[in-house]
Order: sequence, then C-alpha cells, then structure tokens
Amino acid sequence: MFKKQGNLSYPIYNLQSTISNLSVISKLDEKGVFEFLGKEETHQFLKEIVNLAQRIYDCNSGEILEGYTSRFQICYICLERSENLYNGLCAKCAGELE
Ligand SMILES: [Zn+2]
Repeated sequence: MFKKQGNLSYPIYNLQSTISNLSVISKLDEKGVFEFLGKEETHQFLKEIVNLAQRIYDCNSGEILEGYTSRFQICYICLERSENLYNGLCAKCAGELE
C-alpha cells in the first residue's frame, strides 16, 4: 500500500482515492451541476476530469466513472458517448477486450 520513493514512504493509494473515492462527481451531481451543463458540456467536463485525474493522480477511469457510465452514457475506456454500454464499455471497447 505504500510506495517508497527515496527515503520517503507515502501512501500512494491516498492520492488515488482523493479523486475516485471522494467522489467529486457525486458532489457535483448533488449540486445539480450536470443538469445545468447539459449533456454535451457534461460529457466534455467528465472527459477533462478523467484525463486530469489520470495524468496527475494516476487514477484509472473505471474507478472515477464507476456508477456513472450508464447515466452519462460514457465509455470508461475511450471516454466517448454511447447509448449501448456493456459493463461501462462501448461496443468497440468491449469487443477489443474479448
Ligand atoms: Zn469505448
């Protein structure tokens, strides 16, 4: 659970849980942000959140979007919109995993 870096040990999982388990998405949802933004802007916003979390905090998109893929019709691998998701994946990404 701890990643050693030089002489310093720190709980790397805390960085990952900051974004995913804190559930920034659910907090924004409670405030009605996604209704305000609408479908297209919500999609772009979610892509930005996921890309930022992956780049800076090494989070994975599946964790961040867990529980929200169907609602926002977003594939957690390619982050594209799809009305037909299979366990959070669009047909193309689900097909590539088989
Ligand atoms: Zn996909």
